[in-house]
Amino acid sequence: MADLGNAKNTAEIIKKYGFSFQKRYGQNFLIDTHVLDKITDAADVGKEDGVIEIGPGIGTMTQRLCERAGKVVAVEIDKELIPILGDTLSGYSNLKIINADVMKTDMGALIRDEFEGMNVKVVANLPYYITTPIVMALLEQHLPLTSITIMVQKEVAERMQAGPGTKDYGALSLAVQYYADTYIAANVPPNCFMPRPKVGSSVIRLTVRKGSQVSVTDEKLMFALIRAAFNQRRKTLVNAVGNSADLGISKEAVSNALAGMGLDGNIRGETLDLRQFAALSNALT
Ligand code: SAM
Repeated sequence: MADLGNAKNTAEIIKKYGFSFQKRYGQNFLIDTHVLDKITDAADVGKEDGVIEIGPGIGTMTQRLCERAGKVVAVEIDKELIPILGDTLSGYSNLKIINADVMKTDMGALIRDEFEGMNVKVVANLPYYITTPIVMALLEQHLPLTSITIMVQKEVAERMQAGPGTKDYGALSLAVQYYADTYIAANVPPNCFMPRPKVGSSVIRLTVRKGSQVSVTDEKLMFALIRAAFNQRRKTLVNAVGNSADLGISKEAVSNALAGMGLDGNIRGETLDLRQFAALSNALT
C-alpha cells in the first residue's frame, strides 16, 4: 500500500480519481511524513486507544492512525472522498468510515457504539472554516475523551493557549482551558499541505481534564460574563458587563462582586484568569 504522506503519491491519487479540492470543505491535505509523525506522536496513540478522525481526506493520516490504534472511526463530509478512502485504506480491518458532517453527528452515541471499554482520542487535521465550533462542541458536551490533538490555524492555537494580559487571550482561551490543558506540539508551514493554505498552522494537543480546574455554580453565567468582557475588550469589566442587555446585571453588582474579591473596580476583563472569572460568576449567581 502506497504511503500517501508525500506530494507525489497524493497527486497520483487525486489524478486517478479526478478529484477536485473543495474550498468550502477546507480541504488542504497533508503531504509531509514528519508532520504526520508529529501529530500521531503528540496524540500518543496506542493499541488500547480508539481514535476518532475528523475529515480523513484521502486517508493520509488515517493510514498511520490505523497502524497504531486499536480502532479508528473517520468522519468525512465529502462523498467524493468515500470511494477513494475505500481504495487507499482497503488493507485495514480496524477502520470504519462514516460519510457525515461531524457537526451533525451524535458523538456521544458514536463513542458508546464504537469504542466500548477503550480510551477515546480525537485526532484531526481540521477544516479551518469550522475549527472553533468543532472544538467547542467536543468539549462542551463533556464527552468521555482523553485528548484532542488537532492541526489548526497557528493563530487559533495561540489563542487557545494564551494567558491573561496577552493580546491573544480571549473567550476561546478561557473556554478551552476550562476543559483541557493545552500543549502546542509543532508549528507547520504552508508547504506541508496540498493545496497550500494562506496561513501558518500548528498542532495543538488538548488533554481533557477529568475534574474541573475551578468550581463554578453556573457555567452558563460564567461563559456569558466572559463573552461580555471580551466583546468590549477596551472597557472596564464593570462597564462591559453592566452594559450587556443579555446579562441584566447592574454595574453596582459587578463593582461589589469585584470588591469582595479584592479587585480594583477599574479592572479590565482581559486581566482576569479563569479562577477569577469563576469567582466573579459565583459571586453574581
Ligand atoms: N486529514 C486529511 C489530511 O490531513 O490530509 C484532510 C484534512 S483537510 C484539512 C479537512 C478534511 O475535513 C477534508 O477532508 C474535508 O472534506 C473534511 N471536512 C470538512 N468539513 C467537515 C465536516 N463538517 N465534517 C466532516 N468532515 C469535514
